[in-house]
Amino acid sequence: MNDRRASSAPSRGRQLARGLGMRCPRCGSGNLFHHWLHMVPNCPHCGLVFERKDGDWTGALVINFALTVAVFVVVLIALVAATAPQIPVAPLLAVLVPITALGPVVGYPVSKTLWVAIERAVLDPL
Ligand SMILES: [Zn+2]
Repeated sequence: MNDRRASSAPSRGRQLARGLGMRCPRCGSGNLFHHWLHMVPNCPHCGLVFERKDGDWTGALVINFALTVAVFVVVLIALVAATAPQIPVAPLLAVLVPITALGPVVGYPVSKTLWVAIERAVLDPL
């Protein structure tokens, strides 16, 4: 199987695009989650092992945090720019606190599949 995989391995860009689309970076198969927060251990189509060693998901955690912070900062800047100089703190918090609380949950699946894709495409392509 390794020979077949090596000869038909998708490009790095394609693997990353598949990861962003919450698909297996190797074969492009979907249905990688039993529930929003529970990823299957292996790809149901090609058998790719998603967590190869303990601590593999640390990168996904970093991606998830970075995505949440990025959305937070963009929304904060947009709201401050739109309301300055009279910045309404309470409505601002009413928008930003849910982003902070729900962002990691919403971004959880894509952060995991994107991390798997980054691992395969960039860090350890073998
Ligand atoms: Zn697969």
